[in-house]
Amino acid sequence: MVKCHSENTDTYFRTQVGVVGAGPAGLVLALLLQQAGISCIVLERHTREYVETRARAGFLEHRIVEFLRRNGFAKGLDLHGVQHTTCEFRLEGRQYIVPYGEMSGCAHTVYPQQFVVSDLIELFMTRGGTILFSHPVVKIEGLKDDKAVIHCQSQSLLEHSAAEKQVECDFVAGCDGFHGITRASIPSDHFSTVTRQYGIGWLALLAEVPASTERVIYALHESGFAGQMPRTPQVTRYYLECSPLDKQSDWPEERIWSELRKRMAVDGQGDDEQIPGKIIERRVLEMRSVVTETMQYGKLFLAGDAAHIITPVGAKGMNLAIADSEFLAEAFITYYREGDGTQLSKYTEMRLPHVWQTIEFSDWMLRLIHNLDESGNRTFSDRLRRARLERLCGQGDYAQSFAVNYVGK
Ligand SMILES: Cc1cc2nc3c(=O)[nH]c(=O)nc-3n(C[C@H](O)[C@H](O)[C@H](O)COP(=O)(O)OP(=O)(O)OC[C@H]3O[C@@H](n4cnc5c(N)ncnc54)[C@H](O)[C@@H]3O)c2cc1C
Repeated sequence: MVKCHSENTDTYFRTQVGVVGAGPAGLVLALLLQQAGISCIVLERHTREYVETRARAGFLEHRIVEFLRRNGFAKGLDLHGVQHTTCEFRLEGRQYIVPYGEMSGCAHTVYPQQFVVSDLIELFMTRGGTILFSHPVVKIEGLKDDKAVIHCQSQSLLEHSAAEKQVECDFVAGCDGFHGITRASIPSDHFSTVTRQYGIGWLALLAEVPASTERVIYALHESGFAGQMPRTPQVTRYYLECSPLDKQSDWPEERIWSELRKRMAVDGQGDDEQIPGKIIERRVLEMRSVVTETMQYGKLFLAGDAAHIITPVGAKGMNLAIADSEFLAEAFITYYREGDGTQLSKYTEMRLPHVWQTIEFSDWMLRLIHNLDESGNRTFSDRLRRARLERLCGQGDYAQSFAVNYVGK
């Protein structure tokens, strides 16, 4: 095995893998490398407090929970996570309850992303790992050379000047999300992406209010989709389909609660259980999926949102990010332990089919919960959607396939 070594001064670090980004992808990778005795340093643009309170995802797939458990990363989610085994669709006032847990023999665990991140940071740092918070990476050099060099700037309030620091490493893991710098470091002639924009938006909300039911609700309404996803006993995430061009100011609180009640109505009645609460986050998300088909360039490997973003439909983004890191860590470990770089060199080839399978499921589900009919015959599309929901509530292969894909078996 190659010896783990880091040589650090205040402004110069030498490590084996430089990890850019302390989100789920970067932290899982860093922990796996640390466990295998491979040195790594994580560079994060924001403060620790910021990343530990940034609310986003909440649904962890069965296979991801199993993976986190196997590696000893699941203490918090085992203590506080809540298991979900049914989801509900609503259309034309009818409820369609899908017991996907029963069909698949597995469950989702609901545990907010900021808690996952916080647990992983705590574990990595307690075990002696280094994360440089408030250190945005500004440049990466040498991706085709023997050593790569990551340049970052210290923005720590404790340090008086915005000192530049350098991290020299064998490899760079780009785990810096969709707007990060690592993907942008790949020359454009070596880079290809495939994108789908659906022309719709979701108003994503977090509210301090208990969910009206314990399960996820997907309401398919003529005014557009509405969703309710429990996060904690006190906080619920809601989604309302809107124009991708809408601004937050187009959605005052009164309009939000009235649309939620209307779109989630059962049997022609407003969802009276839908009580208003304090809205703590409100933003418009454009529904789109983007896949970077170059997940590796020289010494750079992209993982998670840095490589692909997927619409929030089906709750797959964080799960896919963690799965990338699981694979990438294994490839690094094989390289350092056995001197075999085959798995690393096949990273893109091995990950892309899984990425596309996940995008395919999310695309299918997006078309189920939105009426995307462009021919003007929305009634025909609604009938098809009703037929699909009826099949989902049955016990056949269609329902089985949904259950397995949705829960991530
Ligand atoms: C409203 C919403 C709901 C969602 N719901 C779900 C869900 O239920 N289930 C699910 O699986 N997914 C969901 N997702 C998607 C999920 O949040 C993302 O897929 C996930 O965060 C990806 O993790 P990541 O580590 O790849 O990237 P990120 O979490 O984006 O982490 C990247 C990190 O890199 C840092 N960074 C960026 N640039 C730099 C730089 N130059 N230098 C240093 N650091 C940098 C960032 O600050 C960030 O901390 C949701 C997303 C949103 C927005």
